[in-house]
Amino acid sequence: MIKKIQYNTCGLLLSLLALGSGSLSADSMSEPVLEPLSEPFIVTSIKPLAIIAQSAVGDQARVEYLLPDNQSPHDFSLPVSALKKIASAELVVWIGPGFETRSAKTMAKLPPSKLITAMDQIDPLAGDAAVAAGSHSKAMSADPHLWLDPDYGNAIAAEIQARLGLPIKQIIGQDEIQALRASMAASQDKTYLSHHDAYDHFVRAFELPAGLSLRDARGSVKGVQSQYQLRKTIMASNISCIFVEPQYQGKDAAAVAAEFALPLVALDPQGLSQPLNHEAYSQFIGSLVAQFKACFQ
Ligand SMILES: [Zn+2]
Repeated sequence: MIKKIQYNTCGLLLSLLALGSGSLSADSMSEPVLEPLSEPFIVTSIKPLAIIAQSAVGDQARVEYLLPDNQSPHDFSLPVSALKKIASAELVVWIGPGFETRSAKTMAKLPPSKLITAMDQIDPLAGDAAVAAGSHSKAMSADPHLWLDPDYGNAIAAEIQARLGLPIKQIIGQDEIQALRASMAASQDKTYLSHHDAYDHFVRAFELPAGLSLRDARGSVKGVQSQYQLRKTIMASNISCIFVEPQYQGKDAAAVAAEFALPLVALDPQGLSQPLNHEAYSQFIGSLVAQFKACFQ
């Protein structure tokens, strides 16, 4: 308990220093408990948010993520090591209680100034963007895989930059998004089958038709009736491939691929192979577009 309080105090002091507050006296600066001034520490729940954070801050902060690469974010419980990282971080970024369900209690205890809930960052966008986009409403989708829409990536990045007092800069430019969208324009009559229902935001952002999925948005197996419906829909759809994601066992995908003689294509929606660097988010979105194009070829 005492240790935890020290962490929090230390984190607060570090963030005051990082924000350039001049209010600390010389006496408090020389307190022996103070650690040397270091860059702010940002902890994210999942790697995609770390990709966004690192792109947002460049080398102005240290970024780590909590979810091990071999686990599904949909049923991840925070181990003690993760709680320690959260305690020592200046900023914690997560999607929200509807996504990292088992982390919700821990996150609810954090001071609001230390926490960014990605879901909350994109809500204000929904109204304007939906009107601008015409037919597709961003607010309509309950899909929690927000990081797959580059507009949301920019919105989350802007909040991180604002909290750290950094200049607000887009992590993927509108020209770049437009060019990627144009590069997929020839694929608009094609669709795909994915492991779970995770691509609403991506296909809307890139103006592709909605795909089919073996599992629901939380990665749970669908009921017998919907399995039957799925097979009927597969036969009636122009499906180009079945996507397999690295962190899931691809057994059900492989079975359907064999049944319908469809190719399996690797898709990495969590950017597990994406290095964390200053250009990470734009590289990550570019890779996803390339993976979708590999399916549609
Ligand atoms: Zn998912």
